[in-house]
Amino acid sequence: MERRRAFAEKYEIVKVDYAMIDNPFAGRVICGHCGSPFGRKVWNSTDETLRRKIWRCNKKYTNKGEKSCGNKHIDDRTLYQAFIDIFYAILENKEHFINKWRQQGGDDLLQKYKIEQFTELFREAILLSKFDIDLYFKLIEKMTVVNGEKNNCDFVGWHRS
Ligand SMILES: [Zn+2]
Repeated sequence: MERRRAFAEKYEIVKVDYAMIDNPFAGRVICGHCGSPFGRKVWNSTDETLRRKIWRCNKKYTNKGEKSCGNKHIDDRTLYQAFIDIFYAILENKEHFINKWRQQGGDDLLQKYKIEQFTELFREAILLSKFDIDLYFKLIEKMTVVNGEKNNCDFVGWHRS
């Protein structure tokens, strides 16, 4: 909780509802250009198939002559797909990753605990046929977007290495 609070403060996230099932990316998509959180916007259309949810930097349009952020928006579907891709990339090479995580463990107890949790999770993991929100919340702390593309993912409880 301490860590989540520090994270929210760092990125100026005032209120984040982590349980919001229809919006798993709230507070977890961060701008790789200026460090602000991304916010969701629905591009409406009377045609349901053309309706799109996009994420863009909260500093994209700032008031009063301030320079706005030049990062591009990203489509909701790209974020879902990015998670699935990452999950598979790890799953395919899980022995490699499990070894690597264990070497990175160090003395940090929280990190050691997370590494054990991740190891368990991937040892038992099965193939995903669709986006799995429980898994997503267990694994992903934040995704960083650069030039409108997912650039980086930080895992829950992980120190950047
Ligand atoms: Zn930005």
